[in-house]
Amino acid sequence: MWGVLREPLLALSRSETVKDLVTRLPISSGIVSRYVPGESVHDAVGATRGLVEDDLHVTLDHLGEDTLDESQAEATVAAYLELLDALTAAGLARHAEVSVKLSAIGQALPDGDRLCLDNARRICRAARNAGTTVTLDMEDHTTTDRTLATLGELRKDFPETGAVLQAYLRRTEADCRALAHEDSRVRLCKGAYSEPSTVAFTDRHEIDKSYVRCLKVLMAGQGYPMVASHDPRMIRIASALATRHGRAAGTYEFQMLYGIRADEQRRLAAAGETVRVYVPYGAQWYGYLMRRLAERPANLRFFLRSLLSSK
Ligand SMILES: Cc1cc2nc3c(=O)[nH]c(=O)nc-3n(C[C@H](O)[C@H](O)[C@H](O)COP(=O)(O)OP(=O)(O)OC[C@H]3O[C@@H](n4cnc5c(N)ncnc54)[C@H](O)[C@@H]3O)c2cc1C
Repeated sequence: MWGVLREPLLALSRSETVKDLVTRLPISSGIVSRYVPGESVHDAVGATRGLVEDDLHVTLDHLGEDTLDESQAEATVAAYLELLDALTAAGLARHAEVSVKLSAIGQALPDGDRLCLDNARRICRAARNAGTTVTLDMEDHTTTDRTLATLGELRKDFPETGAVLQAYLRRTEADCRALAHEDSRVRLCKGAYSEPSTVAFTDRHEIDKSYVRCLKVLMAGQGYPMVASHDPRMIRIASALATRHGRAAGTYEFQMLYGIRADEQRRLAAAGETVRVYVPYGAQWYGYLMRRLAERPANLRFFLRSLLSSK
């Protein structure tokens, strides 16, 4: 099912007509609010507070990608600065970091590498002042080299900045080796974009095998692995590898998305594991929602029902 529907769904999500139809859904409709707690900073802080009360940690993503001009990039930076202030005021910054997409802060604009590096530095500085950290999300494979180069620059001043690597890319095992060094925070995920077989594994089992190879490298290394997956097998294997390498709880963490396997998030936290929940918020939830639906075609019926009942 996954293999059959994932690519068409991701392709459909690029249609303006579909986007127009879907974004007319209110954020409160079940299918949207399952994955996105709201559009405002207030909503983001509220969701964070609830998770922290359940002994979970959080990483917040201000939704927005495909930034088309500098003013939009500036607005995204301002949103992150406002968020970090609000987290500090609420006493939550110790438990909540931020995830940033470089495309949202200017990477695709002319002179985009310089622009997104400057913007990312401003967010990293504010995060450090708040006592927390930034992780750079990873987007489609055409941006991987540039994102890793920006990460390298950022880490000269902010070595605490986290990276994301996607196990579906053929290159990722080598990237894991390069980043498995001391003080290096690396989130390993399977990967959410539509990628050609020239650069990516497209078979589920191949992706899972790659995920395990990458986990082995990260768990054996000196860095701080962030195991971002809802897959029970990957979670079991990560736990076994942590034990094999004598890693104490707190020297790695599990990460899951807001609204997915919430019980498992709490079960792992109750067992003494560090668990961080990725909380996206903001008005531009469309691309994020479509990637979540593409991962889980079983949600499609529910989604179509939401669309029809909103008309
Ligand atoms: C914290 C975090 C950060 C991420 N950051 C990035 C990033 O920067 N770049 C990027 O490309 N990708 C990112 N991803 C997404 C990731 O690449 C996968 O697309 C996503 O996590 C699904 O893969 P999985 O490992 O959970 O395994 P899967 O094999 O896809 O899923 C395993 C099980 O999880 C549950 N599940 C998975 N997805 C859903 C869903 N949408 N709805 C309901 N149940 C579901 C189901 O029970 C499923 O059987 C991130 C994921 C997480 C958890």
